[in-house]
Amino acid sequence: MLFKNIKIIDENFTAKPHMYVRTEGAFITRISAEKLEPLEGEEVYDGKDKVLLPGFYNLHCHVPMTLLRGYGEGLPLQRWLNEKIFPFEAKLTPEDIVNGTKLGAMELLASGSVSISDMYFSINEMADALNEAGMKANICHGISSFDPAQKLSELQGYKDTIRLAKAVRDGVYGGEPGTGAGSRIIADMGLHAEYTSTEGLVRQVAEAAKDESLLVHVHISETASEHEECKERHGGRTPVCYMADCGLFENPVRAAHCVYITEEDQEIMKAHGAYVLHNPSSNLKLGSGIAPVAAYLANGVNVALGTDGASSNNNLNMMEEMHMAAMISRGAFKDANAISAADILRMATRNGALAQGRTDCGLIREGCRADLIVIDLDRPHLRPDYDTIANVVFSAQSGDICLNMVDGRVVYRDGEYAFLDKERIIFETEASFRRILGEL
Ligand SMILES: [Zn+2]
Repeated sequence: MLFKNIKIIDENFTAKPHMYVRTEGAFITRISAEKLEPLEGEEVYDGKDKVLLPGFYNLHCHVPMTLLRGYGEGLPLQRWLNEKIFPFEAKLTPEDIVNGTKLGAMELLASGSVSISDMYFSINEMADALNEAGMKANICHGISSFDPAQKLSELQGYKDTIRLAKAVRDGVYGGEPGTGAGSRIIADMGLHAEYTSTEGLVRQVAEAAKDESLLVHVHISETASEHEECKERHGGRTPVCYMADCGLFENPVRAAHCVYITEEDQEIMKAHGAYVLHNPSSNLKLGSGIAPVAAYLANGVNVALGTDGASSNNNLNMMEEMHMAAMISRGAFKDANAISAADILRMATRNGALAQGRTDCGLIREGCRADLIVIDLDRPHLRPDYDTIANVVFSAQSGDICLNMVDGRVVYRDGEYAFLDKERIIFETEASFRRILGEL
């Protein structure tokens, strides 16, 4: 496709008007300030009053939880999990999970996400559903067990992870057969949290991730009580220190929430190149607190952005998440530039791609993969278009997104999905939800 005469957010996160961008196959092959003529048979996209930017990488999600949207309102984390979420999830079949995944995929694509890092179960079925939608995803099973004698290799979540990792290596999801390089779907090793596992399990997960060369996705220090109870259980050690002692940080760790991590924790994360996955809406909605992200950035800790699941947010909209992240950091720390709009946008795009191990993604740069979105600037709330990045982060709405492209394929355009049947998916998710409510 040739994007003609379009404003772009370039690889330095500055806006450039009147540009020409060509994609061929899965890649961006040409970026030019000079006019480019279309190649024979090439589709031309008129960029008048539009801005082209990297699509969003939503780094912490539980996409099938779209089925639980609005269920269990008003409860703090532990009561929300134990009284509402876990009993509902025990009734989910793999078909329900596929329905919820497709519902979430529609929401994600329409609000500009090109890729997610997701933790749930029935992950092989989820991988197929997200691949069918045309999205990218790093998917893990949030492994948990309270049995001190539990062997990791006997857990279904571990078996599913190994099966998915093999399918990825075999090229099932578009990667190079043999290595899986460039695969749309990637298997991560998932550990649910310190409070849902034993020390033996954490150690086994650390070993297994190393053996399989997988990223580790885990919840860490989401609430003050989780953080303090971990210290009581583990000789004064915080979740980060305890998991580091178990060898987890010898792998590339992607740690969701980190609302309460200490300076020592930050040093450990920094030394190992770990990422904080910041989920401001979920942390506010469940009353968990505000992660001091500006301090993490100042201390050199990597940060990427996520929405968390739809039942603690209650949407999967990364535009809203960027807005929220900028607002709460500035308000909570009384600093009007605690995080710049460009830094927020980088967090939602390039940082997320790097956190997924996708080094050729998340930027508008020749040779990078064409994971791109278009925002329509011809809207009253985006005029004047004086500071485009500020407009994108603070003024734009997800409804302003008119195109979503993943690996050079248009997956969403002007309300229509290339590979998903909206009406049918909504019907089937409603049926799943009603059946489960009837069983509870
Ligand atoms: Zn989560």
